[in-house]
Amino acid sequence: MTIVVPSQVNILLGGYESREMLGIMDQLRYNGLDHSPATRTQRSFHMRVKLQLVMCSDEGQEETVTDVITLNKNSHRIEHLGLTMAEAKQLLSTLQQHLLQHQVDTFLDRCATCADCGALRKVKAHASRSFRTLFGTYKLYSPRLEHCDCIRRKTASFRPLSALLTESVAPELLYMEAKWSSLVSYGMSLEALQDFLPLEVTLDVKTVRYDTLKVAKRLEAELGDEQPCFIEGSPGDWDLLPLPDGSFKVGIDGGYVRNWFAKQHNFEVIVGKSTRAFGEDDEDKKPSSKRFGFVQTLDTKPKRRLYEVLHSQGLQMNQKITFLADGNDTLRALQLEMSPQATHILDWFHVTMRLTVLDQYGKGLVHCDAVLGKEIREKIARLKWSLWHGQVDKALGKIDDLASSIGLFQETYARFNPLIKALSELRTYIGNNRDLIPNYGQRYHQGEAIATSFVESTVNQVVSKRFCKKQQMQWSKQGAHLLLQTRVKTLDGELGAVFTRWYPDMDIEVGEIPAAA
Ligand SMILES: [Zn+2]
Repeated sequence: MTIVVPSQVNILLGGYESREMLGIMDQLRYNGLDHSPATRTQRSFHMRVKLQLVMCSDEGQEETVTDVITLNKNSHRIEHLGLTMAEAKQLLSTLQQHLLQHQVDTFLDRCATCADCGALRKVKAHASRSFRTLFGTYKLYSPRLEHCDCIRRKTASFRPLSALLTESVAPELLYMEAKWSSLVSYGMSLEALQDFLPLEVTLDVKTVRYDTLKVAKRLEAELGDEQPCFIEGSPGDWDLLPLPDGSFKVGIDGGYVRNWFAKQHNFEVIVGKSTRAFGEDDEDKKPSSKRFGFVQTLDTKPKRRLYEVLHSQGLQMNQKITFLADGNDTLRALQLEMSPQATHILDWFHVTMRLTVLDQYGKGLVHCDAVLGKEIREKIARLKWSLWHGQVDKALGKIDDLASSIGLFQETYARFNPLIKALSELRTYIGNNRDLIPNYGQRYHQGEAIATSFVESTVNQVVSKRFCKKQQMQWSKQGAHLLLQTRVKTLDGELGAVFTRWYPDMDIEVGEIPAAA
């Protein structure tokens, strides 16, 4: 049987014929220069362009010629020049229809006869299947054929097209939907796709959401089982490992999104970023940064999730890794079983935020009593100094001292009660996280990580920009959790790699999405 391959588009330009692939502009220009001024004839401003699709056999013979589109173009005004979006969309969808039809026909042709004896298979039922692509949705003929009885078979009939159309969406459309929805809202993604592609009729916002979450579910299904602990081997094994390059810093923090089911409530979304950095001696090595995210009250595999991120960055069991987080017990449990070499630190960023709040009250006290207020503010500054140097007991003493000093303001300061509350919460916070408070000053001077301001921006980037931009945006826990999975992959520039793993012949190229996304 001859395999017919679509290989050519004819462009017939006002009587001058150029047989070229679409998009090769040089040839089009060449056509115009082909004629010397002496032989050039005056052409009209009106032009009829007829595009034909020529299917060629694999020997190069032209088998069929199909008219794809005829364009009637003027050239009086600038807006007449070139293809319009509407023409381009029509061109793409018509071309797509012919190509698909041809590819499916070719595929079905091969299935028309029995592979074992060569007899013609009988059609049992006529049916069709719909296929959604970047350039429209098409109904494709999908007959049910009877199996030949030359040998015993498990079924009496089959649909040959099911082997080719393993899904009802083209991978590239799926990729575009998941990528855009990870960056902007489902509605905006739909608008963008419809603006540039012939998808006005066939795509709606529910479908975009459904497809995106389908991609996320597939990602989730690939995640291995949860384990209580991901530390592998024993200290003896770790010593035998080659000395690893670079150090790891992992920051984890939470952000809140509005709950769809309980409109007045929010739920927490955890996000984090793992960075592998190299010292000055390894200048040629590229640092790597990967984000992760999940809805803590829903996710059953948070440790596996974090482990996969660290593993993909090449974490070895004998490698230094620093975890920075706010004092949250569940997050700490998540970090604890990842590496024997881990250092766990209370994020200085969160400590200093609480002190800033306290100092705001201090400013209020100055308005009540300038001298006493100033003394309180100095005490807050000294408390900060103690914490910066990791002197937890001293800090706790200073908090108690502050609590008794501000008693004088009970009658005069309007926000006395919230201040007392903030102070008491700070005391609990510092007490609970005592083991996670290092000498920040010393670490800082040694160039070691003390804060996750980089995580703060990760929260903003991963959560706020996509999940809370509009106050009305509301989420189900599952919807948010799933979208987080495609979003971190998209922001890290890894979604394309995921798709080429699923569909090895897919032709896509992607890089990291800039932080502004
Ligand atoms: Zn047979």
